[in-house]
Amino acid sequence: MHELTIAQELLELIARVAREQGAVGVSSATVEIGELATVDPSALEFAFEAIRPGTPAGACRLLMRSVPLVVRCSRCAAEGRASRELLCCPSCGGRPVEPIAGRELRLVAIEIEE
Ligand SMILES: [Zn+2]
Repeated sequence: MHELTIAQELLELIARVAREQGAVGVSSATVEIGELATVDPSALEFAFEAIRPGTPAGACRLLMRSVPLVVRCSRCAAEGRASRELLCCPSCGGRPVEPIAGRELRLVAIEIEE
């Protein structure tokens, strides 16, 4: 289960940041998940909650923000939203397009308890 690996990595990262800041605990962590990142938010939340007990993030809520897919067209250079199912230019319908946002999976903020 791929979400479990991601949850473990997130938890390690959160614990490290908490340690560096001298926090007693972490109340929430915000993660951005791009539309193209193949992550199921509910599976990620479930995995995170399953492994957080006993860590500095034991009471940490995972807040997830989805990042829409934005592409740039290689033919007309237009940029805009595209659907994951139909990866083509929003302006001319051309291909290929290059994703410029929507692939990310990153921790953007954590709220610590001091
Ligand atoms: Zn185009």
